[in-house]
Amino acid sequence: MAYDDNNIFAGILRGEIPCEKLYEDDETFVFMDIMPRADGHCLVIPKTPCRNMLDASQAQLAACLATVQKISLACMKAFDAEGITLQQFNETAGGQEVFHLHFHILPRHDGVRLRPPGEMADFAVLKDHADRIRAALGR
Ligand code: 5GP
Repeated sequence: MAYDDNNIFAGILRGEIPCEKLYEDDETFVFMDIMPRADGHCLVIPKTPCRNMLDASQAQLAACLATVQKISLACMKAFDAEGITLQQFNETAGGQEVFHLHFHILPRHDGVRLRPPGEMADFAVLKDHADRIRAALGR
């Protein structure tokens, strides 16, 4: 399947769609998930196009995972988390809904379940959570 740049995350990368940005470097971009399943739920994406893990280059995957680790450590600190769940879905059958590679970072606490999918965030709360992660990143 070919990459289609008419997807939401490509629009975010082009600056056409607003987002609560947390971090970027030359190869990756990180922002809050608009329907967070845990406090601090955020997404790491490559700046260059690929649909998912199946068509990604090793360089794209390596860059994303390095950023996943950096942001996960910040989330541990920001939310006093006890763990991190990493989710990554590939193609519709694999649960993917937005077809630009992304890794979900979900800060976790013992005994606290993920919220159901599809519940829109309160934007003031989302900003507060983003501020906590940005502070933990030291920026
Ligand atoms: P997946 O493709 O991994 O199944 O899920 C896509 C994720 O993108 C979902 O967790 C959803 O909440 C998130 N999402 C969908 N549309 C937007 C958007 O416009 N902005 C942001 N920040 N996240 C989005």
